[in-house]
Amino acid sequence: MLHPPHQSLQVAAVPPQRGPVRDRDQDDPWHTEAVCRRDEAGLFFAPSKEPTAARLSREEAAKRVCARCPVMVECREHALLQPEPYGVWGGLTAAERRVVLARRRRREVELQKATSSVDQIRAAG
Ligand code: SF4
Repeated sequence: MLHPPHQSLQVAAVPPQRGPVRDRDQDDPWHTEAVCRRDEAGLFFAPSKEPTAARLSREEAAKRVCARCPVMVECREHALLQPEPYGVWGGLTAAERRVVLARRRRREVELQKATSSVDQIRAAG
C-alpha cells in the first residue's frame, strides 16, 4: 500500500499506516518528487476534533502546497483510485474527491447507456 505523499502526523482520526508519503516511501516514482514529504506543519490531515474554521484554513494551506507540487496529477489520481479516505491529496480534500468520483461514476453510466443504445441500433440495423 502506498502512503500519501506527506509526512505522517500524530492524529487520532488517521490510522498511522494511512499517513502521508514519508521519506521511506519510494515505491512509486512520483513519491520522490512530492513537495509534502517533509510536511512539518501538519497541513494535510485533520487532528481530531478540529474546528471547522481551522480545518478550512489548514486545507487551503495544504492546497497551496499542492499547487506548486510537480506530481499533483499523479498524486490526485492515486488518491482517487485507492481511494484515499482522509486528508488533502493532489489539491483535493476527501469531500472533493468524493464529488469527483461520483461525477466519474455518473459519466461511466451515461457512456454505458449510450454504447448500449448504439449497439441496439446496429443490431436492429
Ligand atoms: S500534490 Fe499535494 S499531497 Fe500530493 S504529493 Fe504534492 S504536495 Fe503532496
